[in-house]
Amino acid sequence: MAGSIYDHLLSNGVTRRSFLKFCSATAATLGLSSSMVPRIAEALEKKERPSVVWLHYSECTGDSESVLRASKPSIAQVILDIVSLEYHETIMAPSGHAAEKSLHDIITKKKGKYIAVYEGAVPTKDGGIYCFIGGHTAIDSCKQVAAGAMANIAVGNCACFGGIAAASPNPTGCKGIQDIIGGTVLNIPGCPMNPENFTAVIVHLLTFGSLPALDSLGRPLFAFGKLIHNNCERRPHFDQGQFVRQWGDMGHRLGWCLYEMGCKGPMAFQNCPTIRWNEGTSWPVQAGHPCIACATPNNWDDAYPFYKRLEGLPGVGWQANADKIGLGIAVGTAAAVAAHGAIRAAKQRKVPKDDGEGHE
Ligand code: SF4
Repeated sequence: MAGSIYDHLLSNGVTRRSFLKFCSATAATLGLSSSMVPRIAEALEKKERPSVVWLHYSECTGDSESVLRASKPSIAQVILDIVSLEYHETIMAPSGHAAEKSLHDIITKKKGKYIAVYEGAVPTKDGGIYCFIGGHTAIDSCKQVAAGAMANIAVGNCACFGGIAAASPNPTGCKGIQDIIGGTVLNIPGCPMNPENFTAVIVHLLTFGSLPALDSLGRPLFAFGKLIHNNCERRPHFDQGQFVRQWGDMGHRLGWCLYEMGCKGPMAFQNCPTIRWNEGTSWPVQAGHPCIACATPNNWDDAYPFYKRLEGLPGVGWQANADKIGLGIAVGTAAAVAAHGAIRAAKQRKVPKDDGEGHE
């Protein structure tokens, strides 16, 4: 079909083989069986690229960077190619009144047909004076855009839950998008969000005509339904009581568990261990850094200090926000963590002595 997503990909040098590879990878990210790959391919062959309005509020543009940065034209390129990014304050050509006109044209002429993507928290204190775009507060801006959107998607922890902008003492009264516009907002948290989860959400919307199943925090279950701790490649070391105790020690070099160094994987839900980052290259824990629960509400307050060992059960806030199934896993895991801590303390298991050369 002329003008379809597939045509656009072909005209931009994407081969049929790469296209089908992308469909397979996206089906896997969505947790769908390989039998759904033809259906995804068919949808992308027939559907036109959806218009996207991407707004920025109190944030660092890390989520845009996450989507835009790629070492080679692969998945990140495809993400940009399957949508028509018609308004994005950081990368679009128009500025000033021309930019304002672009936004106005989209939300009036494409009412009910565009996807609104929000990056950043919304300052609400003192009438919202701490974030103005084109003479409008962020509060008015997102309400206006959300009213005509076919879907509202918040990307990054700030847009989803307030993020670092809302961390104590939250001087500008920042809130997540859902708290401002109400209704259904699909949250793809993370600091930044993983662009492959964003692509998978768009592909799901195009293929099935609906958003994927969400948890109680508005996060897609395919991406946020599993505990990081249960899928972590360092988990066997946790089970064996093999912990990193100091940065650069022997355990750290051998890829042991980062729990003692403050890892919040036992309380965090996201698919980082399976889809990873930078085109599947790695993820923070694989690279040797503890998880900071960046896709969890209030992580900048509740998971802080990031390098302090998680003590016993997760705090009440974490549990109150977890799904029922997640709660069970989290409590079970936390109990296991506590038990491990006790066993480990009793055994006083030692990390092999480091001679500085990587030998015991
Ligand atoms: S505590 Fe962290 S590093 Fe250790 S197994 Fe769990 S998620 Fe992985």
